[in-house]
Amino acid sequence: MKIDVKDVTMIYPSGKKALQNVSFSVESPDFVGILGPNGAGKSTLMKLMTAALRETRGKIELDGKSLLSQESMLKRNLGYLPQVFGLYDELTVWQFMDYMSALKGIKDKEEIEWALEQTGLKDKRKIRIGNLSGGQKQRVGIAQAIVGHPELMILDEPTVGLDPEERIRFRNIFSEMSRDRIVFLSTHIVDDVQAVCNRVLVIYGGKILFDGAPSDLIDSTVDHVGSYVRSLDEVIPEDCEIVSKVNTRNGVLTRIVGENLPDYVEKCEPTLEDAYLYTVAAHSRS
Ligand code: ADP
Repeated sequence: MKIDVKDVTMIYPSGKKALQNVSFSVESPDFVGILGPNGAGKSTLMKLMTAALRETRGKIELDGKSLLSQESMLKRNLGYLPQVFGLYDELTVWQFMDYMSALKGIKDKEEIEWALEQTGLKDKRKIRIGNLSGGQKQRVGIAQAIVGHPELMILDEPTVGLDPEERIRFRNIFSEMSRDRIVFLSTHIVDDVQAVCNRVLVIYGGKILFDGAPSDLIDSTVDHVGSYVRSLDEVIPEDCEIVSKVNTRNGVLTRIVGENLPDYVEKCEPTLEDAYLYTVAAHSRS
C-alpha cells in the first residue's frame, strides 16, 4: 500500500487554513509519528487521509488512485481512531466490536477475540460501554482500530487517558503491527515517537517542518542544545527556548535550545524532545 499526499491545503468553511501545501508519500511498511503542538493540523491531516474530510486544494492518492475512488478498499483496510470517538453507551463491548467489524466486512469472530485480547478487554465483553472507565473506553477505541489487521492504521493520540504502563504496552502493539502495514500515530508525547517510529513528521501552523528519521531530526540539533547551572535566573537570549529547569544542590540546572547558544552554556547531546522544540521554536520566530 502507498499513500501520497500531494500539495494538500485545507481551509475550513470558517476560513481557517488548517493545512498549507502539505506533501509526503508513505509506503508500507512504515511507522510514521506526527508531532506538533495543539492546533498544528495533525487531526485535520488524519481526517483527510481517512476521507472523512475533503481537501480544499491538492489531492490524496491511495495506491496511485484518488482516495475518494477507493472507498470500498478503505472501508475494509482502514483502522482509524479519531481523537473524539463516538461510542455507543448502550452496547456491550462485544456488541460494539461485532457492529464495527460488520461495518468493515470482517466476518471472522477470531479477529474480535484477538482485538479484545490485545487491549485487555476480554473479561469486559459483556459490560455495557456506558459503564466503562475513560481508560477502558479508550481501549475499546483502540480495539476497533486494530480489528481485522487493517493495512492502514491512523491513530489520533491513541494513548490519551491511559496510564504509563498501558501507554507503553500499546505503543509496542502498534510497533509490532507496523512491521507489515502503514501506521500513522499523532501525539505530543515525543518519547512515544522516539520509541517506535522510524519516521517523524513535525507539523506546525499547518506546514510540515520536518519529514525524516527521528535520528536525522536529532542530528540537525547538534550544537543547539546546552545547559547551565546558575543560582540566579538568567535572562536567556531571545532566540533560545527553555526545555527544562531542575533544582539541584548547586542551583537551578537549566536546559535550553537555540540558534546561537550563549557562551556560558555547556553543550549537550540532543534528545528528540530538544530537536522537536528547537524545530518548532525556530519556526515560530521566523
Ligand atoms: P491538532 O490536531 O494538531 O491539534 P487540528 O487539525 O485539530 O490540530 O486543527 C488545526 C487548526 O484548524 C486549528 O486552528 C483548529 O482550531 C482548526 N480547526 C479544526 N477543526 C476545525 C473545524 N471543524 N472548523 C474550523 N476550524 C477548525
